[in-house]
Parts: sequence; C-alpha cells; structure tokens
Amino acid sequence: MKILVTGGAGYIGSHVVLELLAQGHEVIIIDNFSNSSEIALKHIEKLSEKSINYIYGDYGDENLLSNIFNCNKIDAVMHFAGFKSVSESQTKVLNYYLNNVASTLTLLHKMKLHNVRRFIFSSSATVYGIPKRVPISETAEVGGTTNPYGTSKYIIEQILNDLGQANDFDIVILRYFNPVGAHPSGLIGESPKGAPNNLVPYLLDVAAGIRDQLYIYGNDYPTRDGTGVRDFIHIMDLAAGHVRSLDFLQTNTGVHCFNLGTGKGYSVLELITTFEKLTNIKIAHSYTERRPGDIAECWADPTNANRLLKWTAEKTLQDMLNDAWRWKNNFPNGYF
Ligand code: NAD
Ligand code: UDP
Repeated sequence: MKILVTGGAGYIGSHVVLELLAQGHEVIIIDNFSNSSEIALKHIEKLSEKSINYIYGDYGDENLLSNIFNCNKIDAVMHFAGFKSVSESQTKVLNYYLNNVASTLTLLHKMKLHNVRRFIFSSSATVYGIPKRVPISETAEVGGTTNPYGTSKYIIEQILNDLGQANDFDIVILRYFNPVGAHPSGLIGESPKGAPNNLVPYLLDVAAGIRDQLYIYGNDYPTRDGTGVRDFIHIMDLAAGHVRSLDFLQTNTGVHCFNLGTGKGYSVLELITTFEKLTNIKIAHSYTERRPGDIAECWADPTNANRLLKWTAEKTLQDMLNDAWRWKNNFPNGYF
C-alpha cells in the first residue's frame, strides 16, 4: 500500500516508517522538521536500503496536500505530526490547537475530497484524564484532560468519531502509553530539542554526564514506592502496532480505539534501578515537588489491541533501556 505519513521524521514516525518499508509498503513522508531532523531519514535509508520519498513542508498546507493527493494514489494516512509537550501547550495554547487540531481538519478535509478513507491517528493515554481505575480499559471514559495538548487529542478523537458515524472514514485511534527505547541498531531514537521533559531522555542525559542529576517529581504518590507508575512500551512494539492497524483496516470499517501499552506498570524508581543494574552506572537523583498535571499511576489494559489487532507488546523494560542506552552512546546529542 502507499501510505502518507505526517511527521515521519519524528521519534515515533521514523520507527514506524522503517517497519512499513520492511513490510513492503510504499511511504511518502511530510515533515517540516520543527522537532526532528533530515538525518533521521538518512538513517532510515541506511537501515532499509531504500530511498525515502519525503516532502519538506507543513501538513496543514492545503496546496501541498492537494499536490500530494493529486499526484499519488494514497491508500492510507498515518498521522504523527503535531506538537507534543504538555508544559509548552499551557503557554502556547493557540499554537497547539492550530498545529494539532486545525491542521488535522485540513488534512481530513483533503482526504475526503480525494476519497482517501483510511486514517491511523496518534492519540495518547492522556485522553483518559485522571483514570477512575487502572489498568485503563479501551472502553473507559475519555475526557477530563488537564492541559491543551491532551485536550487537542481529545477533540480530534471526537471529530474522528463523528466522521466514522457519517461513514466517511475508516479509522484506528491508537492511544499510546509511554513510548521509550530506540531501534536496536542504535541508529534512530528519540532526539528531543533542548532539555528533555520526559523521564527516559532525561535519565540518559544524566547517565551520559550531560546533566548532573535526575529530579524525581514526587515521592508521596499512593504507589508502592511513592513515585509515579507508568506503562513504558518499547518503540519497536509500538511501531508494530501501527503495521497491524493498517492490516486491520483492510477488513474492518468504522472507528476503533486501541491502547498501545504492555499492561504492566513500573515506577520511576524501578526504572532507575533497572537502568543502574543494566549499565552499572549510578543515576544521581533527588526528589522534588510533584509536576503539575501528573497522575499517580497509569497503565493499559490492551485487551482489544491484543484480540482485534492480534498485537502484543513483547519487549521488556530491560530491552527498552538497553536499546535507549545504545542509541544515546552513538548519538549523545541526538541529531542536533
Ligand atoms: P515528534 O515531535 O518526535 O514527531 C512529530 C513530528 O511531526 C516531528 O518530526 C515534527 O517535525 C513534525 N511536525 C510537527 N508539526 C508539523 C507540521 N505542522 N507539519 C509537518 N510536520 C510537523 O513526536 P513523537 O514522539 O514522534 O510523537 C508523534 C505523535 O504521537 C504526536 O502526535 C504525539 O502527540 C503522539 N504521542 C506521542 C507520545 C510520546 O511519548 N512520544 C505519547 C502519546 C502520543
Ligand atoms: N518524571 C520524573 N522526572 C523527570 C521526568 C519525568 O520524575 O525528569 C516522572 C513523571 O513525574 C512521571 C514519569 O516520570 O511520573 C513519566 O513522565 P514522562 O514525562 O516521561 O511521561 P508522562 O507519563 O508524563 O507522559
């Protein structure tokens, strides 16, 4: 199939593109490199031994989209592009709604005009807000998001549900838990611009001597050791979930939501200890205030993803951290 991938140079998109190419799909990437680098595409070319068809531009640019859809028979769109920082979304509210929601509407509108029905969307466990219970089932209530980033995902999900009701599109909504790790080659991985916001990239900076210590946001949560608990999922397992979603859309119509998580939660302290044991590197850390908007614990019940997508996360926390560390050693400053 010929797949248009928005944000295909980014962390998740680049790993998915590699999997799509490995499965024999044709890929067209649109990316403006606002949070990524062309180097990621060069590395995908090296690993896949295929040349990448990519367009430098904004996925919300109507003329660009018209050109792409006029010149190519696109079978499905995988939509990764957007802004993803919770904290930044609280100060750059309009930027987030414009780049995440308004541009997605433009993309969907163009798809409709060109009769492209299949859409796979990068959503997030954040749409569940403060979960009433864990593990979080795919049928749990959504809403109650606490920041513009989360709300942008929630709004897009509502729009997609309406489009499905109108029988305009066939859609898979993938709610990611905490993607970490890197391709086992150590050639592609997560490359945040500036100081990392997320736990694993920050820990890697400390391990590599780029930052002095890790600040653990809160040790008074009602969890087994007081630190937050999350469902960390290997990026390669996450990528496989996208390929399965594409297969699923060959025989299924309508709108379907799946949790891409392992079904297991690890605390921040457990993750640090696992990393220390694997690498023999001590991670200096201290406790600080809870981060506003964080929840105590969040892990997935991926029953529908297991059953309907025939997908299960296979890699362990050790795999995630080993692969992340290999990538960090190869590219201590990422692509930048
Ligand atoms: P990323 O920032 O690494 O990748 C996003 C890509 O989109 C980047 O290459 C960026 O340059 C590009 N982009 C942004 N705006 C664009 C625009 N207007 N036009 C063209 N390209 C544009 O992020 P990621 O971690 O790969 O996340 C991919 C998607 O998954 C995002 O929608 C994100 O919200 C979602 N998600 C990510 C996580 C996570 O922890 N990484 C968790 C849940 C959901
Ligand atoms: N966290 C932390 N220190 C950091 C970054 C994150 O203690 O420098 C904690 C955070 O409070 C949460 C967990 O690590 O409990 C995962 O946070 P991350 O930002 O990676 O992902 P989130 O679950 O917020 O999407």
